Amino acid sequence: MTTPMFDKIALIGIGLIGGSIALAARRAGLAKQIVAATRSTETAATANRLKLVDRCGTDLAAACEGANMVFVCTPVGACGAVAKAIAPALKKGCIISDVGSVKQAVIEAMSPHLPAGVHFVPTHPVAGTENSGPEAGFAELFDGRWTILTPLPECDAGAVDRVESFWKALGSQVDRLDPADHDRILAITSHLPHLIAYTIVGTADDLGGHLNAEVLRFAAGGFRDFTRIAASDPTMWRDIFLNNREAVLEVLARFQEDLFYLQRAIRWGEGEKLFDLFNRTREIRRALIHLNQA
Ligand code: NAP
Repeated sequence: MTTPMFDKIALIGIGLIGGSIALAARRAGLAKQIVAATRSTETAATANRLKLVDRCGTDLAAACEGANMVFVCTPVGACGAVAKAIAPALKKGCIISDVGSVKQAVIEAMSPHLPAGVHFVPTHPVAGTENSGPEAGFAELFDGRWTILTPLPECDAGAVDRVESFWKALGSQVDRLDPADHDRILAITSHLPHLIAYTIVGTADDLGGHLNAEVLRFAAGGFRDFTRIAASDPTMWRDIFLNNREAVLEVLARFQEDLFYLQRAIRWGEGEKLFDLFNRTREIRRALIHLNQA
């Protein structure tokens, strides 16, 4: 049996991502001890009942005492307050990381609270489902998916390497990006698609009257897929849009232009324009399948 990578891992927040990290870390034998802390007693009780970690409580700082690795797994908007609350308990040399879907705002919110001698390595596992809470976690979530590290230039290289090894041991592929590039890329690949899904489902709901029921009854593939995405956690997604505002607004403006282009093509019967675009987008889907990311 190999030596565990860390003596003690602490997870702050134990929902889909925190729970999945706990299960995947245990599967790979990465820690002697894994503890967690969360905001509510209900979530802590569920995490304990499911035995996701060795113990889960509601005292965030207490969970971090003596930990070599701390993961903040709360919604993005809570990361700053969490960093402030746990900072006094972080031991020198400990690595602290987060899993937020936005990087620049989280770095700005957490960094000022972290004491000297602690290594902050921001991460984002690009893996998830529309489910949330501790019951949603599963050990295979990160298998074959990408995790993006956005280390700061001043960060200790050894700490960044350890976090990279940790994610690889969880089953993930790892790459490193500048935090601003991360936010721009995720704005188009993840944040805008969620915004579109929330809009379409809201529009369908607003149709009102008898059409409302018919929309649900005849929900074909397309709409059904959107309802799955639009069922994603409201707190998490509110925080993502508020914390990646500039990048989302930029891609939204581009998207609106492209939508007007299609609107015009439909109005003027320019089938060739529609066909050419649909052909191009089909190739993108094929490329994704080829890369095993579909
Ligand atoms: P989740 O299932 O809703 O779990 C969130 C956890 O954070 C819960 O344990 C919740 O505690 C806790 N929490 C919320 N506010 C808190 C606060 N103020 N103080 C302490 N704990 C708090 O969320 P998730 O899907 O795991 O997402 C967690 C993070 O991962 C987010 O930043 C998200 O952007 C990122 N992420 C999500 C996905 C995805 O697909 N879901 C993918 C990649 C990254 P209580 O239940 O006790 O309130």
